[in-house]
Amino acid sequence: MFENSRFVVDSRQVTPGCVFVAIKGEKTDGHFYANEAINKGAAYVVAEKKLQHIPEEKLITVNDTIEFLLSNAREKLKKHNPVVIGITGSNGKTTTKELLYQLLGKDRAFRNPGNLNTEIGLPLSILNEYNAEKFAILEMAMNKFGDIARLCQIAMPHVAILLNVGTAHRGIAGNQEMILRGKLQLIENMQKNGTAIVLYDKKLLDRISLKPMVTFGYKKGDYQLVDYCYIDFSTKAFYKTPREQLIFNLKSIWNAGQLTNISAVLAALDILGIDCNKNILENFTPVAGRFRVMNCNGIYVVDDTYNASIESFETAVETIKKLGKRSFAVVGSIKEQGKYSIETHRKLGEILEKLDGVVVYNVDNEIEIMNCSKKIFASNSATEISDFLKRILIPGDVVLFKASRSVQIEKVLQIYTEEIRC
Ligand code: ADP
Repeated sequence: MFENSRFVVDSRQVTPGCVFVAIKGEKTDGHFYANEAINKGAAYVVAEKKLQHIPEEKLITVNDTIEFLLSNAREKLKKHNPVVIGITGSNGKTTTKELLYQLLGKDRAFRNPGNLNTEIGLPLSILNEYNAEKFAILEMAMNKFGDIARLCQIAMPHVAILLNVGTAHRGIAGNQEMILRGKLQLIENMQKNGTAIVLYDKKLLDRISLKPMVTFGYKKGDYQLVDYCYIDFSTKAFYKTPREQLIFNLKSIWNAGQLTNISAVLAALDILGIDCNKNILENFTPVAGRFRVMNCNGIYVVDDTYNASIESFETAVETIKKLGKRSFAVVGSIKEQGKYSIETHRKLGEILEKLDGVVVYNVDNEIEIMNCSKKIFASNSATEISDFLKRILIPGDVVLFKASRSVQIEKVLQIYTEEIRC
């Protein structure tokens, strides 16, 4: 019935002939917008109740509209039976997914784009964009316990990649044990003959008895990043796999976590029986805001503005310490930490002690908790911070911009890079 239909959940995106699926969210309820969707030409409205003013022949009522999306996506994939690669973890999902996607190639691989990685976004992207490709790379996010198991209902992975398990969104997702158990659902819901690729981390390995499994990590695991250094504005990275030793000169991957995750990608390619295209890997550029490094007249400016967690801060600091002669960071608070916020920001202060200077943007009561002797400036004005940076930074320095999404620290980055004409 819905063959070739476009599915939307936001009435502003309705185009003639599409199927509008009404979803009740936390902030608003899609059912309020059903009329607007019909007026804009939607062929059908899928809703959880009868709706006045919607012609009967255009209304499909179901018990659960999210389940409707999930089951239609499942049916679509079942028909084409792709090799499914599931990816989850606290940090690095998007970059790992994009890299694997480029290495497998657009012609034979599908991936859910951007952050369409939830119980709504993932099925939507499959329904609208999956085109019978041989490989389906599915990034799965966990906002609350149970999400990963639900997403695996769409398709049980043949290859399940479990990146690190950290503290991101722990105010919403629950305590460490809940986050860990939630992410392990990827492995529990894998195909019977599937293979797991898991970070070599004792807290994960202790909980997985399943075979076959391969591990990856920095200086440990079956597939490992052995070492890395920065030469001539590029990264030289050394890897060891069960078959060979590899050296890559990466143009745009700098972050120690991302470099480690490349070993998971190498493992996936081996399992899929596909050679690694060195050229594609060496020229890969992460998505904007995910640790992109720019050389601005000798100053390394790091755009890591997309998001922040304790673990991604730890890795970012470790990386910039190695990258520049003096290392600075412009930071803001880490959100979605709920009752853990004080602990998180105290820890952030400890991590930032390793730097030469810390600048705070958008001071709020969360980041105020952060106690760091390296704090040299704080302001809610992006221009003031930019002026300050212009005064203190010299060639050879590195400056990191990082905070949670809603802090919008990219505004400071934008003004600063415009002013120094980078
Ligand atoms: P996600 O989709 O999981 O949010 P991204 O690929 O968007 O992940 O990367 C988010 C941030 O995490 C970036 O700052 C990136 O450099 C960092 N990162 C990537 N891998 C790791 C890792 N293994 N440990 C810590 N931080 C990492």
